Amino acid sequence: MTGEQKLSRLAPSTSEQRILATPERRGPWLLVYSGWNPAQEAHREALCTTGNGYFASRGAAPESGADGVHYPGTYVAGIFNRLRTSIAGEEIEDESNVNIPNWLPLGFRIEAGPWFDVAEVDVLDYEQELDLRRALLTRRVRFRDGEGRHTRLVQRRFVSMASTHLAALEMTIEAEDWSGGLEIRSGIDGGVRNSGVERYEGLPNRHLAVEELDELDAETIRLRARTTQSRIAVAEAARTRLCRGGAPVPDERSVAVGEDSIAHQIRCEVVAGEPLTIEKVVAIHTSRDPAISEPAGAARTAAAAAGSFTELLADHVTRWDHLWRRAGIDLDEGERTRFALNLHIFHILQVVSEHTAGLDVGVPARGLHGEAYRGHVFWDELFLFPYLSFHFPGLAKSLLRYRHRRLPAARRAAAAAGLAGAMFPWQSGSDGREETPRVHLNPKSGRWIPDNSRRQFHISAAVAYNAIEHYRVTRDLDFIAFRGAEIVLEVARFWSSIADYDHASDRYVIRGVMGPDEYHDAYPDAAQPGLDNNAYTNVMAVWVLCRALELLDELPPGRAAALVERLELSRVELDHWREVSTRMLVPFHGDGIISQFEGYDELEEFDWPGYRDRYGDIQRLDRILEAEGDTPNRYKVSKQPDVLMLLFLFTSAELRSLLQRLGYSLDDAAIARTVEYYSRRTSHGSTLSRVVGSWVLARADRAASWALFREALESDISDIQGGTTAEGIHLGAMAGTVDLIQRGYTGIEPRADALVFSPSLPDELRGMSFSIHYRDHWDVRVSIDRRAIRISLPDSDLGPITVEVDGRRAPVRPGETYEAELWRADRPPTGA
Ligand code: BGC
Repeated sequence: MTGEQKLSRLAPSTSEQRILATPERRGPWLLVYSGWNPAQEAHREALCTTGNGYFASRGAAPESGADGVHYPGTYVAGIFNRLRTSIAGEEIEDESNVNIPNWLPLGFRIEAGPWFDVAEVDVLDYEQELDLRRALLTRRVRFRDGEGRHTRLVQRRFVSMASTHLAALEMTIEAEDWSGGLEIRSGIDGGVRNSGVERYEGLPNRHLAVEELDELDAETIRLRARTTQSRIAVAEAARTRLCRGGAPVPDERSVAVGEDSIAHQIRCEVVAGEPLTIEKVVAIHTSRDPAISEPAGAARTAAAAAGSFTELLADHVTRWDHLWRRAGIDLDEGERTRFALNLHIFHILQVVSEHTAGLDVGVPARGLHGEAYRGHVFWDELFLFPYLSFHFPGLAKSLLRYRHRRLPAARRAAAAAGLAGAMFPWQSGSDGREETPRVHLNPKSGRWIPDNSRRQFHISAAVAYNAIEHYRVTRDLDFIAFRGAEIVLEVARFWSSIADYDHASDRYVIRGVMGPDEYHDAYPDAAQPGLDNNAYTNVMAVWVLCRALELLDELPPGRAAALVERLELSRVELDHWREVSTRMLVPFHGDGIISQFEGYDELEEFDWPGYRDRYGDIQRLDRILEAEGDTPNRYKVSKQPDVLMLLFLFTSAELRSLLQRLGYSLDDAAIARTVEYYSRRTSHGSTLSRVVGSWVLARADRAASWALFREALESDISDIQGGTTAEGIHLGAMAGTVDLIQRGYTGIEPRADALVFSPSLPDELRGMSFSIHYRDHWDVRVSIDRRAIRISLPDSDLGPITVEVDGRRAPVRPGETYEAELWRADRPPTGA
């Protein structure tokens, strides 16, 4: 039986899963799981991942291997490898973020008994705790073995936020009622595969060839491996020390070298009541690292120079303390909400951090927490950039450069499709080519079905949007002038070339696409995939064209001229952009509701109550319908907001003005009808969905918005999709909830001449405070409660910023705090 088969045998039903998945919370900073529960282990592992933006390791037990219950996975940001196979007669090549050699193995046995395995002993106490503030994972086990001996075990581990390449694991063993010999095995396992996702079973998954296994000194072993296709060298060095009461313990060691693994076998004596501590410090390097000669030497040097567990932990905790001060959001709300928000910020910072900033990596949709979507980068970064630009503008810029570096690949993709400009891939990996699989497995039917999601060309608009928005927050002219503008102009060029003039409507049209709602990839019974005039895509195209034209006017003239020359932008071409940006077609239903795409109105209504009765959980209607031999293409159903994305990315005034430019009108009543229409037809099959739903209701229906926000908060903690979190967190949804608090409910908006706030706190949210980085000002402190908003600038030599609250403007100087009473319909400010 394979690991995955065992996992599916163990996997509980969806409702069971939800109950099982919900951990205990002790305060807003601790994630605690009590009791050993194999069915929940994969989910715990994902949520207990520890990482530092360079690499991350799932919270798997150190003594475990990939056995269907546990899945120890360690992923270095941006380390990809490709493997080929053929499925259903089709040649398939997939690129995956590689599961690198497992550095965790740390096992023990008493005398010559069996190696400790939690499933084989009598577990008396079991607790796993993730301390979010210190980013420290602790596992406490008390057990009775087959000989009736009682032993306590405490394991602590972290991936250092202070040192890019280091992680440390400490295990303290206390014999309660026995003394005797103990054998410890501390190793590195290079025999790992990418086998963490059941749906990918049957596809090749061995990405590494182990090249060298050696003992560097009495304390340190090392493994060097290379990825099979991308030829990236990965090296890990592990240093293991024993101590008791702070003093080193004499031991006897030997090295066990397997085919793909190496371990120190250590023998020592244990005395009842005298805890023995084993510490393992690991250094990880790859041949992609900057500032090294080669990874094996770098790993050796780093492991040798590393301090003790305690010293490393102290630096790590200090660094996290600094991070929380910059990145945390204090809420005056219930403990559960505060905890969930902290958990989300925590995982974001473990995927992207200062250790990511120097690397050529993007934002993986499922974090560095598992293997779903193979570590690929989608449009989900759209949900993360606003938060990052306000807290870590330099990091946001580095992540945007991932896209800029892949501009040549995007240009090639556009050219291959007979188009101009840059067409970014829906799924992106190492070199920016399209990584979306051509087929995917429906686990409900067992069928491989065509995957047309690469037709989500709207991703290119998201890439341009992120570049422009980063500039709006940071005013980082250098980035926009030299990199951002190139992206925006090339994406504008792409949209102008994909838009065809249609004589019948006398408008420009974009045919053959998919919108964000992945339930629709074709017209019912059509032979070819693709839909015409997806409203979201067309409006985004217009927006990009407008911003591109504006940028050419706003950039320093010399730079704009250089760009025009370099990109060979002719006057005729720019006039064409102007023309397309005023005559794009946007479909509407008869009653003024924006149509998701042309023809959507003619689809059948869906039997929501019937399907809910039949299936209970209908989030993934695409799978349900396909398994029934049907397709969502026939119905008015959405996996996630599509049209409503427009109200997520733009204020209603902005959207109205974009549509006005095209000669359409959209009044408040039509906006409300549009929101209501699609909200009722969305199954929330993506975790991004509730974030958008909550956002678009933030002002119109605060209670409904809050309810969706609370559900979105549960996406991963309670694994609301019934099993997907085990394969990796949903980074977009995590970031989206944080952004909802920070921007959605505060209405914070960086305009050219003012930092604008228009708070609309849901009744449940009494207040919040956080610090942002706004243009040149660090640590701008924002505090909001029901009555007032306070904005403080730390002392500096900088000039004032203009703040606007509910339409009132005031300058705020460094060292000052500005306070404004808040306007609410039910309580106008005094004097208003
Ligand atoms: C969603 C996409 C998202 C992707 C990666 C899909 O289920 O439909 O919008 O980009 O997951 O998170």
